[in-house]
Amino acid sequence: MAKIRIGPDDVLSMTVEELERLMEREGQPRFRGAQLFEWLWRHGIGSYEEIPVWPKPLRQRMAQEYPFHRLRLVESQRAHDGTTKLLLEMADKQRVETVLLPHRFGYSVCISSQVGCAMGCKFCASGLKGRVRQLSAGEMADQVSFGNHVLAERQARVSRVDVMGIGEPLDNLEALMQFLELAHHSQGMNLSYRHITVSTSGLVPAIKHLADSGKPVTLAVSLHAPNDALRLSLMPVNRAYPLDQLIPMSRYYAEKTGRRVTFEYLLLKDVNDGEKEAHELGRLIGGFGAHVNLIPWNPVAEHPFQPSPKAHVRRFQSIVQEYGISCTIRRELGQEIDAACGQLRLREEEPVSP
Ligand code: SF4
Repeated sequence: MAKIRIGPDDVLSMTVEELERLMEREGQPRFRGAQLFEWLWRHGIGSYEEIPVWPKPLRQRMAQEYPFHRLRLVESQRAHDGTTKLLLEMADKQRVETVLLPHRFGYSVCISSQVGCAMGCKFCASGLKGRVRQLSAGEMADQVSFGNHVLAERQARVSRVDVMGIGEPLDNLEALMQFLELAHHSQGMNLSYRHITVSTSGLVPAIKHLADSGKPVTLAVSLHAPNDALRLSLMPVNRAYPLDQLIPMSRYYAEKTGRRVTFEYLLLKDVNDGEKEAHELGRLIGGFGAHVNLIPWNPVAEHPFQPSPKAHVRRFQSIVQEYGISCTIRRELGQEIDAACGQLRLREEEPVSP
């Protein structure tokens, strides 16, 4: 059997232009590249045999020379509210989590960008075992495609993408940029950049790269603390990129792209949820039209944190709003399933020691 490629010859990671060049190298007309892209991403084919407009010898040659692997479903959990968590397997048997979330506007899909994560945030299940490997652009795009496949049964499609699952997407920048092109292209999944959110723990140089890329996606910065000492105790990345670099770069992103930046703030009882922290946060990010998304803590067995009482959450919100900052509380979706990112994959592997 032909070996599946995860690399430069992986057709699932190629843009239309790259596929056109590949088909030319194969002695085929250039338009076959765009045809292949369309069949891969608009129709979601699982093999070359499903391209009826191609002659059989071409289908066979491509299957031999450029085999591709679509994600395989290992497990799915569906909550009463429609939130659906998928554990998907890649060609090398590594697994990723992808979550479908219902909204008033339709469905969003939250995709992973790495297997594991190197950032080591203290509240996160995904970072417990470090980074195993990067995902390719095709593996990211295929999570969106798989979401469409699942939603077809509900007569729906993915209308927004959050690159917020397992991994730090800006630590996999090249593949992320390629993924954005794949997801955006009108001959494929045709998603507006405005409907794609990229989340980061705060890799400042990569935020600059994204700002200057001409791809105006929504940026979500995982802040979780309003001062360096507290943030460093929760997020080791703050040592390399402290707040006096992260906040000005977030402002630069907003100015360069014209997009509102969202700051994610996980509320941990008696850690970062006090009135003092709310005022500090208001002073830190006021004045450039940023948005704050407060996230109620979803308990993870491996971590000692407790959720903030609802009254603390509301008080925190109203203080932040006093600074003229738009501030919402994230809806809790999929409560009865392993909803925090990384939990499903960890449970499928051996237990993690406390
Ligand atoms: S919160 Fe995000 S960046 Fe931090 S360890 Fe988890 S996956 Fe990585």
